[in-house]
Amino acid sequence: MSQKPLSQQRERTLGLWNNGSLRAAILGVNDGLVSNFSLVMGVAGGTGDPRFVLLAGGAGLMAGAFSMAAGEYVSMRAQRDLSERLLELEARELLEEPEEETEELVLIYQRKGLTRQEAETVAKRIMADPIVALDTHAREELGLDPSQLGSPWAASLSSFAAFAGGAFVPILPYLASVGDSAFLVSIVLSAVALVAVGTLLAYLSGKRVWWGALRMLLAGGIAAGVTFTIGSLLGVALA
Ligand SMILES: [Zn+2]
Repeated sequence: MSQKPLSQQRERTLGLWNNGSLRAAILGVNDGLVSNFSLVMGVAGGTGDPRFVLLAGGAGLMAGAFSMAAGEYVSMRAQRDLSERLLELEARELLEEPEEETEELVLIYQRKGLTRQEAETVAKRIMADPIVALDTHAREELGLDPSQLGSPWAASLSSFAAFAGGAFVPILPYLASVGDSAFLVSIVLSAVALVAVGTLLAYLSGKRVWWGALRMLLAGGIAAGVTFTIGSLLGVALA
């Protein structure tokens, strides 16, 4: 990769970076996977009855997915409301105080190194088109991209689906009632999913893939190992 021209490396990294929603979805899958893998192992450590494991895992899936969806909705809603309010105020300023708004742009472009005259030419050209003017003020003054405000419902639904998808993996063998081997099959499936998630995340961040896979496997494995141990100790204490 180091032999490739810098512009090509940048294009590739930028392409990966622009996959923000894909990365968010994989992170959501990872949340569900690690959280429910740990929960399932904790309960499996405490009881030999697979029905309890399935019940806890199913409840963990629903609770986690709803909590992620609600959290995502509230945070996106608040962010979107604020962005819309800021854009509304900016649009009114552009209408009511065009002089001051042109001067703002002139100062911004002077700070970027343009001469006063150059900055005035650019600012006037931008201010001539109301849509370009609002878009430019939004980006330069508010740091907002008006075309990328995001949808709270879409974000909420995709968080729900991602978490539920990840959380489903450890309970799948219990659902399929593969008997006593459900515990082992659950560990194997979860480990495979952890490696897959770690690999994808590392790839999307432009990092070393094997290290991403190993790190995720270790993190999930430690979390599940700790809850299994606690579950076993509690199971013995309660028996
Ligand atoms: Zn402005």
